[in-house]
Amino acid sequence: MTTHSILSIHKIFLKSTALFIGAISLLPQFAQAEGKLNIYCSVQNTACEKISQAFAKKYHVETQFVRNSTGTTLGKIKAEKDNPQADVWYGGTLEPHLQAADLGLLEKYRSPNQKQILPQFKQLMEQRGEFSSIIYLMELGIGINTQKLEKLNIKKPQCFKDLLKPEFKNEIQYPDPRVSGTGYSFLTTLIALWGEDKAFEYLKALNKNVSQFSKSGLATNTLASGEVAIDISFMHSYIREQEKGAPVTGVLPCEGIGYTLGANSIIKNARNLENAKLFTDWVLTAEAQEIPWREANSYQLPANIHAQHHPKASDPLKLQFIDIDFLHFGSDQESKKLIERWTKMSLSEQ
Ligand code: PLP
Repeated sequence: MTTHSILSIHKIFLKSTALFIGAISLLPQFAQAEGKLNIYCSVQNTACEKISQAFAKKYHVETQFVRNSTGTTLGKIKAEKDNPQADVWYGGTLEPHLQAADLGLLEKYRSPNQKQILPQFKQLMEQRGEFSSIIYLMELGIGINTQKLEKLNIKKPQCFKDLLKPEFKNEIQYPDPRVSGTGYSFLTTLIALWGEDKAFEYLKALNKNVSQFSKSGLATNTLASGEVAIDISFMHSYIREQEKGAPVTGVLPCEGIGYTLGANSIIKNARNLENAKLFTDWVLTAEAQEIPWREANSYQLPANIHAQHHPKASDPLKLQFIDIDFLHFGSDQESKKLIERWTKMSLSEQ
């Protein structure tokens, strides 16, 4: 039987606004599906779909995915500890994956393909790659709706500190770190820049200008529509909005470039363990890491040294990132402490 004779039909089921189950590959009667794979996915929905479909097609595995933000997915995995509903967790920011490992929620698996990681993350992979693999990276920036700023006659901000000016009142959104990996990454960036107390002083002042905490770093549609003039998220989302025709641009803050990494992990007691390992090996390849930008307009930077990135995205080898201690911020204890502090501060102001 040739590859062409294998017919894959993919169906997407919309379960709720926050929950998507998709990419069920139904193989024809004569082709033996080699098992199943249930994926928790924390990247853009279309990228989840494409990755899930491509793996299904390549390995003749029946795949399903459920998409949620990183913090929400971690919450689900915690809640399902005794009865895991998924085999593998694809994407989402690294710190919650490390927290899941800390909590004993992940299966040990070090893929041989981790060796293809960009040199600057080799050491981190050696230290913490026992449970999670790094598959992409993203730099944190300030998203700006240029049309709205012009209308409001406000100068384009270049620094995080510019956002404290009173003219930004009710014009800023950033993601809630309780549910969003991006939101947590914003906290870690500020702490890496200024230390914890100064970072929280800044956030307290910033919150006075915030009109809403979004549920995900991917919720940039409100910036694109001009509902807010400023958003904080990863730079690639702003390139995507620009390509769609929105008057949006991204600025790398003058204080320094914060960033995070995207991860993949196998969930403890995965029912389809061998397929979860196969999937992990595959998502570490250059071929799989180019799928989001080639097929899903999703421009996070591949972490595989051999993978190409979207021509408009930054060159990962040239970016000068600030120093972020992922081991520290990825500990369950530290994240609980920081999120509790943020929650207490933010809710007391409402
Ligand atoms: N992965 C990718 C590729 C993203 O673009 C983002 C956010 O923009 C995230 C993960 C983090 O998403 P969330 O803030 O929903 O956890």
